[in-house]
Amino acid sequence: MEVHIIENLRSILERIGQACERCGRNPEEVRLVLATKTVNPENIKIALANGGFMIAENKIQELKEKYEALKTTKHLNHFIGHLQTNKIKEVLKYDVSCIESVDRLELAEKLQKRLEFEDKYIDVLIQVNTSQEESKFGISPEETLSLIKKISTLNRIRVKGLMTIGLLSAEAERVRPCFRLLKKLQQKILAERIPNIEMRKLSMGMSGDFETAIEEGATLVRIGTAVFGKRIYPDSYYWDEGK
Ligand SMILES: *Cc1c(COP(=O)(O)O)cnc(C)c1O
Repeated sequence: MEVHIIENLRSILERIGQACERCGRNPEEVRLVLATKTVNPENIKIALANGGFMIAENKIQELKEKYEALKTTKHLNHFIGHLQTNKIKEVLKYDVSCIESVDRLELAEKLQKRLEFEDKYIDVLIQVNTSQEESKFGISPEETLSLIKKISTLNRIRVKGLMTIGLLSAEAERVRPCFRLLKKLQQKILAERIPNIEMRKLSMGMSGDFETAIEEGATLVRIGTAVFGKRIYPDSYYWDEGK
């Protein structure tokens, strides 16, 4: 198991570098986020000791369960799952440095309130539903700009960019339009020069499509299976929750 994780990770980092080279991008611009749902702390530690430094969980419960075991390891925690407002307190408690899945005003407003109370700030990405699949969370592309304008008035929340889950398809060319749309939205929002809004980060691309995402401008790729192996739960368990 250990050998596989190390080898897989090396191979992914190499492929990220090669994808950057192919499209003339600086490899420094693209960071690997390890999607660690269902992965135990021992295996996460192996990845962190061998080139990984950012991990992401989908569920507060898992974040909580692994927190103690990973506390002494130097790494960044992202949150990439659907966040219910009653879990805001917890997400802050477990040192999440970036919530990639902010997709509605109500969540942002409650987050702002809690951050004020704790005297904290947090980085977020706005999750956009670029595939327009009913089952996926995320704000619609049409409503993204107006949501961001509203969030820009919440001073404890630092919007750093956008996140999306592309269409689940084995064919890169079917996923590409989702990534292209996110990039286009980024440009549109940048042109508005909204105070308090940064748009440098584009989190897009997973095990099956990260090279396409890099070609389309990803700065964060979220990869689980290709490093840690197959999961026993279907992704719908993580993405369709509550829908
Ligand atoms: C699980 C997950 C990933 C990684 O998926 P893999 O196909 O295992 O690489 C990326 N983003 C989100 C939001 C996820 O839930």
